[in-house]
Amino acid sequence: MNKNENTIAFNIRVLRERIKTACLHSNRNPNDIQLLLATKTVLPPRIIEAFNEGITLIGENKAQELTEKYEALQTIPHETHFIGHLQSNKIKDVIRCAHCIQSVDRFDLAKKINTRLAAQNRSIDILIQVNTSMEESKFGCPPSDAADLVEAVSQLDHLHIRGLMTIGLFSSNKDAVRACFRRLMEIRKTVIKKNIPNVSMDVMSMGMSGDLEIAIEEGSTLIRVGTAVFGSRAYPANNTQQ
Ligand SMILES: *Cc1c(COP(=O)(O)O)cnc(C)c1O
Repeated sequence: MNKNENTIAFNIRVLRERIKTACLHSNRNPNDIQLLLATKTVLPPRIIEAFNEGITLIGENKAQELTEKYEALQTIPHETHFIGHLQSNKIKDVIRCAHCIQSVDRFDLAKKINTRLAAQNRSIDILIQVNTSMEESKFGCPPSDAADLVEAVSQLDHLHIRGLMTIGLFSSNKDAVRACFRRLMEIRKTVIKKNIPNVSMDVMSMGMSGDLEIAIEEGSTLIRVGTAVFGSRAYPANNTQQ
């Protein structure tokens, strides 16, 4: 095995090739796919290795990890998105440290975020998370409610909806995985048709280490990749779904 294999730099190069190939297959421009590294459980020195390879966007799942790494990484230019399940009592920390919250999945949560931001006279970008696999264990609003949720949240002045996020079905059945991403693209279409003020559908956050090719073929504009770059985590598998 080559000495460079399994280093973060090597893994990022392999990942960029995967993105390029998937784009070739679907006639898309690799520049239209944002790469977010999911850095849960990854410590700052290894994240800095990724920054040295040109990575500028990371995602955290837990408020505590987000705030700890915010301090450790703040001298290095980058953006952080919150991609995990957000509890109301963590809103304050998350809006202080994240540029975008990808996991807004219910109106009461959106309203609480909005109220906090209003008090600080600022706003934040968000995505609406949809549970396209309809697994009970997963967060995200049901697909049938998503367009209505977008419309309701659009009324909150301090939140800017930039698009949608989903976690595809964890399965070796590619058609079932693809169906999740298609469902998200359908919701996007429905929302665009409604022509809702203060709503953009430019960001489609879908695709992870195991299914990014399918997601890119179906229209993803932002993939969230963890294990393909940092290796497997000590976490139990179901935690990675949050
Ligand atoms: C961990 C995580 C990812 C990355 O998953 P991998 O399979 O490790 O690439 C993507 N999205 C979310 C929401 C995650 O929690």
